[in-house]
Amino acid sequence: MGMTEPCPFLEPMQRPAEGHTHGCKAGLNFYSVGPGYALCRTCPVPKLVSEPICEHLVVYTRLRTDAGGRRYIEAELDCDLSAEMSATGERCESCPLSRAEDGYPLIIDCLSRSSIIG
Ligand code: SF4
Repeated sequence: MGMTEPCPFLEPMQRPAEGHTHGCKAGLNFYSVGPGYALCRTCPVPKLVSEPICEHLVVYTRLRTDAGGRRYIEAELDCDLSAEMSATGERCESCPLSRAEDGYPLIIDCLSRSSIIG
């Protein structure tokens, strides 16, 4: 991902530190995405949400570290209607959650999907 697509969760930080001007409002355990949106470049979310987002789709991101000490973003998607939804509607069929094989939430780690930063 080249951060050419705008991410709906990327926002200017109120007190930017040098080189860290933007943060992730979906992030559970981090805020600054680093200089040049470095963590965003490892994140699967912009691709997932490039289509119109259902108002019931809930997105969280977590900062993870692999065995080699490299940081990457893991995304968790959930539906706030998951208890009662039937997943038979046209909108549900186009939702990224329809790919979840083991039920919700859907955890997407992008280690195998995109490059990770050192
Ligand atoms: S880490 Fe991912 S979800 Fe968060 S602002 Fe960056 S691209 Fe968006």
